[in-house]
Amino acid sequence: MKHFKLGFDFLGSIRFYIFLMVFFAGLIPSLFLTSSVLGGYERRTVSSETIRITAQSKLLANRLVADGFFENNSDVSYDQIELLASYYEGRIILIDTDYEIVYDSYGIDEGKTVVSEKVFECMRGLDVSNYDSANGYIEVCVPVTENDEVIGVIAVSKSSSGISADMDYIKQNAFVMQFSIMILVIFIAIYGSGKLMKPFGVMSESIDRIQTDYENEQLSVLNYTETKEISKAFNAMLSRIKTLDDSRQEFVSNVSHELKTPLTSMKVLADSLLDQEDVPNELYKEFMTDIAEEIDRENKIINDLLSLVKLDKSQGVLNITQVNVNELMELTLKRLRPIAGKKNIEIVYETLRPVSAEIDEVKMALVFTNLVENAIKYNVEDGWVHVSLNADHQFFYVTVEDGGIGIPEESVEHIFERFYRADKSHSREIGGTGLGLAIVRNAVLMHRGAIQVNSTEGKGSTFSLRVPLTYAS
Ligand code: ADP
Repeated sequence: MKHFKLGFDFLGSIRFYIFLMVFFAGLIPSLFLTSSVLGGYERRTVSSETIRITAQSKLLANRLVADGFFENNSDVSYDQIELLASYYEGRIILIDTDYEIVYDSYGIDEGKTVVSEKVFECMRGLDVSNYDSANGYIEVCVPVTENDEVIGVIAVSKSSSGISADMDYIKQNAFVMQFSIMILVIFIAIYGSGKLMKPFGVMSESIDRIQTDYENEQLSVLNYTETKEISKAFNAMLSRIKTLDDSRQEFVSNVSHELKTPLTSMKVLADSLLDQEDVPNELYKEFMTDIAEEIDRENKIINDLLSLVKLDKSQGVLNITQVNVNELMELTLKRLRPIAGKKNIEIVYETLRPVSAEIDEVKMALVFTNLVENAIKYNVEDGWVHVSLNADHQFFYVTVEDGGIGIPEESVEHIFERFYRADKSHSREIGGTGLGLAIVRNAVLMHRGAIQVNSTEGKGSTFSLRVPLTYAS
């Protein structure tokens, strides 16, 4: 596996993102849990403490009424209040209806007048409570009522330091727990992200190996559905590259072979002429004719190559004119008939109507020539070729049918590929570059036409062509 340089490489890696996801997915719930548990604890404790103080203050209020405290300030009442104050460890203040403090368990504010919203509310007969978390105390105000009439207020304030201490303790524990969870989550995130990404490391190593030896290696990382899919697609691409490379190598050796053969023949013919003294005129002529034929063959191969390169380079550049297609076909067949004659192949041409179309004459001639030439080349002695031309209001149609050797089923889908030659041994014998049909397909597509083939091995082939009568750029 390629190791990341720590830095931007690592920060941009999937592993880092998986790490972050696992880390936050593990940590955020624990943070939420701690803060909600702490909040809940505080609310519940304050509320039960408030209820308790309120209940006891109400008991005290009843006692004070029973003792007639606000009328005679009996000592019994003082004892009760002080008992309660010491029990609360807090402060108890009694206020009469004139808002004057008649008793303060701290003995600080007696005789003073109270101006407080809460006391006003309480004087109206309501229980009031307040929790001041910042200063750490709970306040409770309870009205003292006699015969449904408020005769005073008991205000109790109690320190909430107990609650804060409990909270601090819980917080400390929570922090230790959170820290432990964080360490655990970091370990899980590092380990998990590493494990999840391991197949990708294996994949990258395999690809490195394949780069040096793509003939024998295959990508096979089957840990996940995704890696399976990638492996499948990669291997498909690899096999396509292999095929292309094979075709290229085959093409190079074919072309060199094809180019060399006429040269060798010419060399042999020329040497034998040079080696002989007083060569008779007839022999001289015969050899020169052979040399001229070989030059023609050489020319044909080079022209094929150039046509294809030109078609490639001038994509979309067509020299469109109105062309009499019947004439063009007749001319093509006239040129090819002598070749057919060598194998005693009969060419039948059937034209159903005059056809005139907007086409590039040179390129379409190339199409016709290649198709008919193939029908002759891949034919048998005394065979036949049937060419037909027809048209409707939109397209013209050409079929080139032969009763020749046919194309093996597995080769049919490849014959339009460059450099592809079906039945290699046979094809080499016949001669060719594997470029003819690639040229045909390119030219037909440039005319916005279509071509298809039907073939049965041993019986023959039919190439059908459809080209629009008017050229739409
Ligand atoms: P080539 O220069 O080999 O003829 P083409 O591109 O013209 O190249 O044809 C590709 C291959 O398709 C040929 O090698 C041949 O195997 C096959 N082929 C083409 N036309 C025919 C046909 N009419 N009958 C049988 N095989 C054909």
